[in-house]
Amino acid sequence: MWRALFDNVYVEERTLKDAETVRILERIGCDSPQVLGHYKDVFDKRNENGSLGRNLILAHNPGKHLYEGAPVCQSFGNEHFYYSPGVMNCIYDCEYCFLKGMYPGSDICIFTDIEETFSEIDELVKLHPVYVCASYNTDLTALEGITGYVRRWCEKAAETPDLSVELRSKCARTDIYGELPVSERAIFAFTLSPDAIAERFEKGTPGLDGRIAAMNAAMNAGFPVRICFDPMIYVRNWREIYSSMIGKVAAGADLSKVRDISIGTFRISDQYLKNMRKKYPDSAVAQYPYVNEEGYYQYPDEVRLSMEEHIKRELSEKCPIVPVFDWK
Ligand code: SF4
Repeated sequence: MWRALFDNVYVEERTLKDAETVRILERIGCDSPQVLGHYKDVFDKRNENGSLGRNLILAHNPGKHLYEGAPVCQSFGNEHFYYSPGVMNCIYDCEYCFLKGMYPGSDICIFTDIEETFSEIDELVKLHPVYVCASYNTDLTALEGITGYVRRWCEKAAETPDLSVELRSKCARTDIYGELPVSERAIFAFTLSPDAIAERFEKGTPGLDGRIAAMNAAMNAGFPVRICFDPMIYVRNWREIYSSMIGKVAAGADLSKVRDISIGTFRISDQYLKNMRKKYPDSAVAQYPYVNEEGYYQYPDEVRLSMEEHIKRELSEKCPIVPVFDWK
């Protein structure tokens, strides 16, 4: 099933013998990948006919394995906040995703040297506690059938007392959580959106019911769960659809068991938005007249504040004891 998602499978020569490479190729049922020198020889390059396809590339990360979090990302009170670029690009296709401004195409590159990331973490935790967003440039849970990296991160969190990991997802899989090593430092974060938003702007993602079911599965398995109403997208009837979503979430899950909730309206770096506007001239999300504040585009204050205050009010009624984090 996985193999059919990709036009071609490429492996960097130096990664051919990696345990992760062997495992991933087995999982996708590919015994004859194309071998290449460097992932950039293929990643997001156009085919001979000028089109961009979707290739899977297994490679080593030639750059940093951990980056400090961007100012528009929520740190949830963690002083030492990093993200891991362990997989580049996503199998979902959200119209507003910053990855669209970052990568020209849909190729997915998995770095098989995850152990290097873990070694960097081992050094950092000698200095201070570390908080890592492991699912930053991708939806790692949605790719678990290929990578097994959610398990690897859960294992790493379980054995590293000063490491906390956030795995953020829109994936509706419910079957994995009971099989993973539970740790209070492996936080499963679920991005929940009204169905009207998911259908219009989050192509390929499961609907709200599926995401709530996955969230319940993670909570029932004993994992701390975070709900992300982020990014909220402005549409004409936003008040009505976001209120109805909160009602649905409160009816479908025991919100008192949720660790925390993050809220935030859409925002993006100016360079990424510039790229997206060029690529998607008809996209309502990309072409909205945002305001630029210190290099990041966001909704004008009157829109942003009314959306964020509205959802905060709804949450204070439905789950007054759960901490709510605002991105600003
Ligand atoms: S699920 Fe997340 S990472 Fe994937 S396309 Fe959507 S916003 Fe981007």
